[in-house]
Order: sequence, then structure tokens, then C-alpha cells
Amino acid sequence: MLNLILFGPPGSGKGTQAEKLIEKYGILHISTGDLFRYEMGNNTPLGLEAKSYMAKGELVPDEVTIGMLKNKVNANPHVSGIIFDGFPRTIAQAQALDSFLNEKNTQVTALVALDVPEDELVSRLLNRGKSSGRADDNDEAIIRNRIAVYKSETAQVFDYYSATGKSKLIPGVGSIEDIFSRLVTAIDEAC
Ligand code: ADP
Repeated sequence: MLNLILFGPPGSGKGTQAEKLIEKYGILHISTGDLFRYEMGNNTPLGLEAKSYMAKGELVPDEVTIGMLKNKVNANPHVSGIIFDGFPRTIAQAQALDSFLNEKNTQVTALVALDVPEDELVSRLLNRGKSSGRADDNDEAIIRNRIAVYKSETAQVFDYYSATGKSKLIPGVGSIEDIFSRLVTAIDEAC
């Protein structure tokens, strides 16, 4: 299986690139943010719980997130690979993912991280907020908090996969096509 972690801070372009990657590689896209928004839209108990964290730009607790992720993977047993987008966001999530994939006799192929300067992230997210309808994109304080949480809890996941040589840092500024070809080069090197 081709199991890719698409990594980077909020606003780094993961969703945009994920769409192009699934088309090229024919693999399943799992975005934990999208899964939470779907649950919220349906007012499920999971959605209501997630909403209280997402609205503040905090992470949803690991056990909730990991459980939801496993359900989604288990619901798609015959795929040839998966792009994990927005997951893992903590070391505990990374460890849980590794043991879950191990049980399935597979593993993470590579982590590709989009590198974008902070000011650019904030302006992209505020801009997205004008049309996305996402409350967490409309308020600069919430956006700054999401970036702070990324630095304090999530960035270490890059180092965690560096230990096994799987992490690749990709410049995330430029045209969508240029960034996409950098990602493809890095992924094809890892396969
Ligand atoms: P972004 O565009 O900021 O990368 P996402 O759409 O991936 O955002 O996620 C939005 C929100 O959903 C996060 O700020 C967080 O509250 C919650 N969330 C998404 N993925 C995770 C995760 N792996 N662990 C905890 N919370 C998550």
C-alpha cells in the first residue's frame, strides 16, 4: 500500500494538493477535519463534541480522533493506499497510526510536509474564511491559536518520522502545479 501523510500547518495547501494526489495515485483521501465537519453538519454526538474544540482552534482529544480514523480506514478495506490529511497531529496519534497499520501488515510510506511562512498562512486562511463558511477561518485570534497548536503539538510529528527517514520537507509557496510536482518527486523517491 502507498500510505502518505500529507503534513503542514493550517493553510499550507494540504486539501488542494490532496485532491491532485488522489487523482494521480488512485488512493483514498482521509481528512480528519472533513470527517469532523461532516459529523458536525449532521449534529451527531461525535460532531457536537468535536465542535467545542474546533471552534477554539484546539485539537479534538486523541482517543476521539483515533477512533474515528480507524473506523474510516476499516470501512475501506480494499484500497491500494491512503492519503492521511490532517492526521496524525500529535505523537500519540502517530504511534497509534503506526501500530494500527502494523496490524494490517503495512506502514507509512512517507510524510510530505508543506513548508509555508506564517504570515502567508494567516492571509490564506483569512481569505479562505470569506467563502469557506468555516468559523475557524474567520477570526485571526483563532487562526493564530491553530498555528500555535501546530507548533507546540503537531510539528514534532515531522521529527518522529524523520527518525526512520520518512519525512520530506517541500517548499509550499509557488504555483499549485509547481508544488504538486515537488510532492510527486518526493513521493516517487520514497516508493
Ligand atoms: P486546517 O485547515 O486547519 O489544517 P483541518 O480541516 O484539518 O484544518 O482541521 C480543522 C480542525 O479539526 C482542527 O483545528 C482541529 O480542531 C480538528 N482536527 C482535525 N484533525 C485533527 C486531529 N488529527 N486531531 C485533533 N483534532 C483534529
